[in-house]
Amino acid sequence: MTHSPDPITQTVQSNLCTGCGVCAGRFPELIRMVDDVTNGRRPIVAQTEAGLNAANQAINLCAGAGADHASLPAKDETDRDWGPVLKIWEGWAADEEIRHRGSSGGAVTALGLALIEAGEADGVAHVAQRDDDPRLNRSVISKSREDMLRGAGSRYAQASPGERLAEIAATPGRFAFIGKPCDVASVRKAANQDEYLDDKIAVTIGIFCAGAPTLAATEALLDRLSVPKGAALTDLRYRGNGWPGTMQATWRDADGSLQKSDAISYGEGWGQVLQAGRKWRCSICADHTGEFADISVGDPWHNPPKGNTDPGRSLIVARTERGVRIIEAAIANGTLIAEPRDRDLIAKAQPNLLDTRGSVFGRRLAMHLTGMPVPKDTGLNSFDLWKSHLSLKRKAQSVAGSLKRIVRRRLWRAVDITPV
Ligand SMILES: Cc1cc2nc3c(=O)[nH]c(=O)nc-3n(C[C@H](O)[C@H](O)[C@H](O)COP(=O)(O)OP(=O)(O)OC[C@H]3O[C@@H](n4cnc5c(N)ncnc54)[C@H](O)[C@@H]3O)c2cc1C
Ligand code: SF4
Ligand code: SF4
Repeated sequence: MTHSPDPITQTVQSNLCTGCGVCAGRFPELIRMVDDVTNGRRPIVAQTEAGLNAANQAINLCAGAGADHASLPAKDETDRDWGPVLKIWEGWAADEEIRHRGSSGGAVTALGLALIEAGEADGVAHVAQRDDDPRLNRSVISKSREDMLRGAGSRYAQASPGERLAEIAATPGRFAFIGKPCDVASVRKAANQDEYLDDKIAVTIGIFCAGAPTLAATEALLDRLSVPKGAALTDLRYRGNGWPGTMQATWRDADGSLQKSDAISYGEGWGQVLQAGRKWRCSICADHTGEFADISVGDPWHNPPKGNTDPGRSLIVARTERGVRIIEAAIANGTLIAEPRDRDLIAKAQPNLLDTRGSVFGRRLAMHLTGMPVPKDTGLNSFDLWKSHLSLKRKAQSVAGSLKRIVRRRLWRAVDITPV
């Protein structure tokens, strides 16, 4: 007799897992995250009675399976379209090295460090490149400037910062959490259900995210950079070292000397290589700007850089009163150099994202039509945006294009995870 899988494995199998790592972070003995080349970083549940119990509890924390947008305060259209937007600034880290190494203006790294230095957080949970395999990421807890700099610059590769919840829960003190919108959404869900954990999370910071490419996409990038197959990589940069930065790899050859690949622009690397390597879950993601975070940070594309390595700038959004207080303190003490902007700037800075949120309705409709499970999100205005914001052609494309993709890629089949 075959048993139906536990709810976490079902979430993975049905393409709903985002890879946030929160299930593994809450049940580290029974759920572990592994890297799969084409499916991303995904959880594997121990096939025991205890594993099943853990999965039954963990599914309640999983924002991949569903997020409660209806619980977010929304006083006007800006909030309904983008999640709570209390205040917005445009600026950068005052520390020149952090600004340079950061993905945009280094605001996230600067804020994390400011929280540690002010004693508001005993550490910051985030991700950094793996030393032994720079194609992959590890989740870490940083406690110093040097530690924080490990994570500066976006890693356009699979990552699960939610795994660190185990250490956060077990270690005395309070911690800041940095992650993509999907990572933050699950952490918020977990914190809402556990007062002790809630108290231990000093603040959450979300980075804007249009989709996380898989290891297969990173391999395609290495080919594009003409890195020899199987080279002993020592570094792989996707962003940073100027805004928006370039993509470049470093490896050690057989003689032991370091070799550097050509650097390609962020635009070329993202647009021509990595973008195509995002998982289906990212195509049906409705939150690209970290609506559940206290603070979220993205690129101010309305005022684009002139070259590939300009001095960086960040768009900084306070979503809660706690976020406002932390950003204003960082500006007052000189950690951040930033100026207030109108609340509607987010729409100008990320002009494609409203269309994307509308298209998500059409894409999920296509999933319904083919019998696939969809995330049980509440309070999304995707249908309204689909109706009012998208042209007739885009409406049709969002459904028909998705049906084609579902059929071509046979997305209804159970996703099978093979750890690398
Ligand atoms: C997959 C991906 C897609 C993105 N898409 C967009 C987009 O559509 N629009 C946009 O404006 N910006 C996008 N970004 C860029 C991101 O929003 C910027 O990093 C943000 O502006 C923060 O810049 P910063 O200089 O303040 O951050 P930094 O000071 O460089 O700090 C970045 C922080 O993010 C963490 N981090 C890096 N990579 C990951 C990851 N894969 N998962 C979880 N945490 C990570 C690091 O640990 C570090 O703490 C994307 C980034 C990633 C990783
Ligand atoms: S909690 Fe995160 S990692 Fe676990 S199944 Fe849900 S989305 Fe995937
Ligand atoms: S697009 Fe959404 S689901 Fe995909 S990695 Fe980004 S925040 Fe997570």
